[in-house]
Amino acid sequence: PSAHANLKDKSDRATNEQVLDPRTRLILFKMIGRGLLDEVNGCVSTGKEANVYHALTPTKDHLALKIYKTSILVFKDRSKYVTGEYRFRRGYSRNPRKMVRLWAEKEMRNLRRLRAAGIDAPEPLEVRENVLVMSFVGNEGWASPRLKDTELTPEQLTPLYLQLVLTVRKIFHVCKLVHADLSEYNILYHNGALWIIDVSQSVEHDHPAAFDFLRTDLQNVEEFFGRGGVSTLGLRRTFEFVTRENLCGEGESEETVLERWIEEREAAGDEKEETGEGVDVVAKDRVKGDEAHEDSIFMKSFIPRNLNEVYDPERDVEKVTRGEGKNLIYADTIGVVAPEDDGPKPKPKPAKKEGKGV
Ligand code: ADP
Ligand code: MG
Repeated sequence: PSAHANLKDKSDRATNEQVLDPRTRLILFKMIGRGLLDEVNGCVSTGKEANVYHALTPTKDHLALKIYKTSILVFKDRSKYVTGEYRFRRGYSRNPRKMVRLWAEKEMRNLRRLRAAGIDAPEPLEVRENVLVMSFVGNEGWASPRLKDTELTPEQLTPLYLQLVLTVRKIFHVCKLVHADLSEYNILYHNGALWIIDVSQSVEHDHPAAFDFLRTDLQNVEEFFGRGGVSTLGLRRTFEFVTRENLCGEGESEETVLERWIEEREAAGDEKEETGEGVDVVAKDRVKGDEAHEDSIFMKSFIPRNLNEVYDPERDVEKVTRGEGKNLIYADTIGVVAPEDDGPKPKPKPAKKEGKGV
């Protein structure tokens, strides 16, 4: 009985800070009644699409509640993530409560996939309509900072950068997802490691726009760590590192390959620097400028997700086989390898009639 007397207070506290609609309050009320939650505390974050609250279980374990807003306006511009999504093929509902429920459920499933792959991410516990209950990433009720809010030295950032690139590769190949909103805002720095959050918009890796999302994700990573003084791999090479099927030679780990690629990039930069006339700094800037220019072309270029989207697959495969495919941005991605490489033989697949994700 006293629990129920308290209940109104407890849900009121959350309500006062940010308006919760009656239905959401009822969901929280029931969670408290069932003993999943004991109290809902203050807001950890107020966002455009969701608010995150701190909560406690009856045994005083810390939880995070992500409560999605149910206003239709908020979710209108999310359709780009859903178009072409197999799981949303029955149509994207116009009913905002229903849409929001889909997003919350999607975040729960995506978090599960990350956890199943051993990636540091909140453990999802339960979803009820627009309320997602997950483990709290923090210590003693204090949320761990976003990567954006940390002040880390290049020495501290470097191992985190390597780990993050390996994680993005794992998300792609093991979870078969692309985060699609990855940046220093959606990564928490928790107990010395990077934790991935905010995966409601993540897409299947065969989503028609998966590569565009991935490219933007990697650009954010590249820019953040570059600004932080880390020797990064460069956008195009990172994209290749993440997407390529066969990466490792005999007895090589992915981490070794990544470190080797970064060293190679630095060495290439130094070489250009030495052969360049004029002052070193100018030469170095020119190398950087060239690369930035190439990266900006890469950002704008179309990367087909599969052979269906390749303009003329037979011509392209032939080109690569003749060793002229160096400029083919998607050569690695579609598994076509030039003959001098040791990789698999080119095997053009017949164009499928219907792509699964389309
Ligand atoms: P939004 O859609 O508003 O960006 P996020 O999932 O990114 O939602 O969460 C917003 C903020 O809430 C995060 O930046 C983080 O500070 C906090 N947060 C989210 N999930 C958790 C969690 N499980 N534990 C602790 N803090 C969290
Ligand atoms: Mg976020």
